[in-house]
Amino acid sequence: MATHTVYKEPAPLIDRENPLESMMSRFNVAAEILGLDEETYNVLKTPDKQVIVHIPVTMDNGKVRVFEGYRVIHNTILGPSKGGIRYDKNVYLDEVKALAAWMTWKCAVVDIPYGGAKGGIICDPTTMSAGEIERMTRAYTLALKDVFGPDRDIPAPDMGTGPREMAWLMDEFSKTVGMTSSAVVTGKPLVMGGSLGRTEATGRGVMVSCLAAMVKLDMKIEETSVAIQGFGNVGSWTAKLMFDKGLKIKAVSDISGAYWNADGINIDEAIAYKNAHGGRLEGFTGAVPMDPDELLTSEVDVLVPAAVEDVITEHNAPYIKAKLIVEGANGPTAASADPIIYAKGISVVPDILANSGGVTVSYFEWVQNKQGFKWTAEMVTERADRIMSDAFEKVYQTSLKYNISLRIAAYVVAIDKVAQTYKFRGGF
Ligand code: GLU
Repeated sequence: MATHTVYKEPAPLIDRENPLESMMSRFNVAAEILGLDEETYNVLKTPDKQVIVHIPVTMDNGKVRVFEGYRVIHNTILGPSKGGIRYDKNVYLDEVKALAAWMTWKCAVVDIPYGGAKGGIICDPTTMSAGEIERMTRAYTLALKDVFGPDRDIPAPDMGTGPREMAWLMDEFSKTVGMTSSAVVTGKPLVMGGSLGRTEATGRGVMVSCLAAMVKLDMKIEETSVAIQGFGNVGSWTAKLMFDKGLKIKAVSDISGAYWNADGINIDEAIAYKNAHGGRLEGFTGAVPMDPDELLTSEVDVLVPAAVEDVITEHNAPYIKAKLIVEGANGPTAASADPIIYAKGISVVPDILANSGGVTVSYFEWVQNKQGFKWTAEMVTERADRIMSDAFEKVYQTSLKYNISLRIAAYVVAIDKVAQTYKFRGGF
């Protein structure tokens, strides 16, 4: 019997829009508005580098399984590339390319000195032991040791990864360079150079940008209800921080299903329940089960997709009742849904703005590692909130200036910054 099998699931779901095409169609609109010259357009539209690795991992049963992994560096004009690593059975190259480009735009929108990258491994971490995940993470790090580096390419967590994986990555990379290299990765555990506030940072940024949008739309906190798709790191922290601010969270969902309470879900109870039940909300009695597809079109004022790509499509967009969508996930809205949402007058705080709080605090972690100095939680929160509000305002003003959606405005802000820097660095 063969001991080497390539683990590769047939990934892309056929009815999903290709996220790379979704990204490019927005990029094209923004490039047109900016009157981007052909040279810059060509530089920005293609990733700088795409690495595909096949990593043999000895599984607990003694057999070797070969996993396919990716690291795509989209662009490094603004600085070393930055972006998470995703462990998921549906990872595929076009998705990683889109996610890498979104990191470039995200870092540019919040004005931090990074380019964009993304990594992924096709695997199902929910069926793997901690030892298998550790060996896979270390092998992936070794395979990419010449790509990663504190001033070259700096990974971070994404779907399916967290502080534990980042610790292994930091350790393995440090071994290859013969010294502790904390700044090679962010999202590390607090005890080993992680930053205070990093865990909740993405959710916090979603909350801050949601409140900023609500001010513009004249929506009152006490009268506003929310539905949140996804109850992982981003969804649950968004829910908790919005709940603490006094917003009424009427619906949440996770892999086990969706849950509705017209009077508002007690998010502290939901999180406590999830933590006590293997990370799932199944059986939670503080809300009644609802059809997960209906969550997106439920009677709420704000909709927060905080799970995966392409959940808001041309098929369900006509039925969305929320006046405001705040994108916690990367790429949750298919490009084909944009005109429908725009025509309905729904405001969208786009992913590259709304979820950029995570990479912002990653940047703070990297700065602290380089400084060899730890900031207080207040310093982190205060600085991150200010960056988020400033970025929101800049995107908002750009949307007014050109009479465009916040999404296209965010691309305009981002592409303009990268293009201007490119002119100075390279093609002046
Ligand atoms: N994976 C996160 C994102 O998509 C964080 C990336 C980072 O901190 O580098 O924004």
